[in-house]
Amino acid sequence: MAFKERVFSGVQPTGNLHLGNYLGAIKRFVELQSSYDCIYCVVDMHAITVWQDPTELPRATREVTAAYLACGIDPKQNIIFNQSQVAEHAELAWVFNCVARLGWLNRMTQFKEKTGKDRENASVGLYAYPSLMAADILVYRATHVPVGEDQKQHVELARDIAQKFNNDYGASISAHGYGDVFFPLPEPLIQGPATRVMSLRDGSKKMSKSDASDYSRINLTDDADAIAQKIRKAKTDPQPLPSEEKGLESRPEAENLVGIYAALQGVSRAQVLSEFGGGQFSTFKSALVDVAVAKLGPIGAEMKRLTQDPVFIDEVLADGSARAQVLAADTMKAVKDIVGFVRR
Ligand code: ATP
Ligand code: MG
Repeated sequence: MAFKERVFSGVQPTGNLHLGNYLGAIKRFVELQSSYDCIYCVVDMHAITVWQDPTELPRATREVTAAYLACGIDPKQNIIFNQSQVAEHAELAWVFNCVARLGWLNRMTQFKEKTGKDRENASVGLYAYPSLMAADILVYRATHVPVGEDQKQHVELARDIAQKFNNDYGASISAHGYGDVFFPLPEPLIQGPATRVMSLRDGSKKMSKSDASDYSRINLTDDADAIAQKIRKAKTDPQPLPSEEKGLESRPEAENLVGIYAALQGVSRAQVLSEFGGGQFSTFKSALVDVAVAKLGPIGAEMKRLTQDPVFIDEVLADGSARAQVLAADTMKAVKDIVGFVRR
């Protein structure tokens, strides 16, 4: 069966939005709106899988919304909303908890990385996170999911859940007139020059909102001074930059900074190296500061302007939620019939 093409993705309101979120996700969201129907979510229910201060969460939710708008997502042409306003996400997640297998979730690297040695003390929600993420995508029967490299495994799990649901309930799906399969198998879209931006302090760790050190990331709301300071302090190695990409092998910090420059400027890594190869890091870093300030400055300024008007932001979210809910409710009615839940 052919499904209508639709894009879904989300960002957690868990702290400071950073360059990795921008290059790996939000910048791609903006590009996709010209060719797809897009639904972009602020996933506040995912956020509380680790503790969030209830006085801080609304601010963070509005800030992610402001980032979507400031980066150029059109809330009329697309849907922008926060997850907790559409209860069907949680409803479908429960059904998916009963479809997904413990063995599948046990393989998820994000859970292992986020819990470390303290697994016994992690929330059940953090463990079941990928099942809610599958519901986020599939409650809209979305076909394409733009994400950074780190989320690939979760989108693949969503495919597994969709497939098992389609198989287990195959007879009921066709008995209710939905043909052979009810859910599409969503595809991760992991594209662009910076699908995994690394920490400025440690080239082996991804840049994250939840990293304790603010020097590990460039926040979208950082001012020019903060950006300059963070880039100047970014970890490097003592050698000059190579002139060819091969020379970046086993130099993760150098590779990361070159990748960031290339992605922000819209040029290839080879072009960056042909310009800066053989030179000192300090020269390259100054140029990187200029590019980062030029590209991120206007976004940060627009985010600040928008967050001063929470009433407007809340209206965007309310309007988006109402439109999302119409779609989600349709899916959920069908799922209830397929599963065998009696409904009004
Ligand atoms: P947290 O540490 O709270 O998980 P995060 O920085 O990973 O925060 P998320 O809200 O989990 O941010 O992810 C939002 C989107 O940004 C996802 O598509 C994710 O793949 C992408 N993303 C996150 N970090 C990076 C990164 N360092 N490079 C590229 N993409 C990233
Ligand atoms: Mg994350």
